[in-house]
Amino acid sequence: MALKVFKFGGASVKDADSVRNLASVLKKFPDQKIIVVVSAMGKTTNVLEKLTDAYFLKQGNATSVLEEVKKYHFNIIANLFPDTTQTIYREVETVFADLERKVSMAPSDSYSKEYDQIVSVGELISTKIVSAYLHESGVKNTWMDVCEVIKTDNTYREGKVDWELTEQNITPFVPLRWVMGDVIVTQGFLGCTSDGFTTTLGREGSDYTASILAYCTNAESVTIWKDVPGVMNADPKWFDETQRIDQMSYQDAIELAYYGATVIHPKTIKPLQNKKIPLYVKSFLQPEEKGTVINDRQTHLPIPCFIFKVNQILLSISPKDFSFIVEENFSDIFKTFAEHRVKINVMQNSAISFSVCMDNDERKVPELIKTLQKNFRVLYNDHLELITIRYYNQPTIDRVCIGKKILLEHKSRYTVQLVVKNV
Ligand code: ASP
Ligand code: MG
Repeated sequence: MALKVFKFGGASVKDADSVRNLASVLKKFPDQKIIVVVSAMGKTTNVLEKLTDAYFLKQGNATSVLEEVKKYHFNIIANLFPDTTQTIYREVETVFADLERKVSMAPSDSYSKEYDQIVSVGELISTKIVSAYLHESGVKNTWMDVCEVIKTDNTYREGKVDWELTEQNITPFVPLRWVMGDVIVTQGFLGCTSDGFTTTLGREGSDYTASILAYCTNAESVTIWKDVPGVMNADPKWFDETQRIDQMSYQDAIELAYYGATVIHPKTIKPLQNKKIPLYVKSFLQPEEKGTVINDRQTHLPIPCFIFKVNQILLSISPKDFSFIVEENFSDIFKTFAEHRVKINVMQNSAISFSVCMDNDERKVPELIKTLQKNFRVLYNDHLELITIRYYNQPTIDRVCIGKKILLEHKSRYTVQLVVKNV
């Protein structure tokens, strides 16, 4: 029987009322087999990152951060389950006891590995709460440990999915899970190495989880439930008049996500495109509304789309002796970027220099610059903004550049990228 995959992000489970709302959305799909992928509640992942830093880097107080996460979740539980004898209390207490034990022991020497073991707790707890609440409200469901099905390599914090193994696992596993009703509740964002350690798939990776599960089960569709009415042509944070896009091709969705539209995680689209599984983006507040569908209809967007990224840094890299920049330099430079796991947002080269724009991530960029400086002269400009316009024309460029100076402009047929500075 055809099944759907639903993804509910942090904002859709941020408090008790949101969890109630999630249940009411699911009740609109009776007798439908659904895999429900859930993220950590609200901003839990950020707080667990703080806990990781306190534990591993000794920055901050681990005990008080842990108390904060605990209190937040038990408030939600108390609101949803007035009867304190319910098993969910014990279940979540056990998860926290394990976490407490973990952070009371000395860390291993891998920050990323410790990060994944700690941060993954957010999704474990959120899914336990959601699953228990669904039971309470009459939606029969099974809690599934996603780590039993999604297998990755051991690139912690950015696990690479082993598609073959994952497909092999899912095929017999998922059908067995339907015995308890039509709904499976599972964690977004997580995977597991072959030796049983939890990995994460990169921040905001729950959309990707939905896509992996849909691909491997040949689902009929994926729906991402959000607090916006669908994919908009710009983030309402930046623009007064934004418009919802009814339909979008996979190609456009990949491009937009790649350029930084935060509405969908960039890795989400490709697996769906390969199997032509449509992706719906809908509002969990107005579940009856149409939202956006992303599918294989090859249409261009009817309106330009704008993507703004702040906190950008532009590096200009040139050989120390002012010779030309040649292929060997490029291979050195790219290797350094890859080693520091810094993603390039735009790049451009001239005879004597190579310019690269990227997110100014303070955990990565200073180290990257230091390494580059061993072999190159590196100049930089920070506090910049990167504006991408898909289906641009001159008036749209003029509009976004008011009061700004363009430092780098990169145009392709449908997309323009502008690195700008306020003047
Ligand atoms: N909870 C994870 C994060 O905040 C994954 C997700 O929300 O998609 O990054
Ligand atoms: Mg999230």
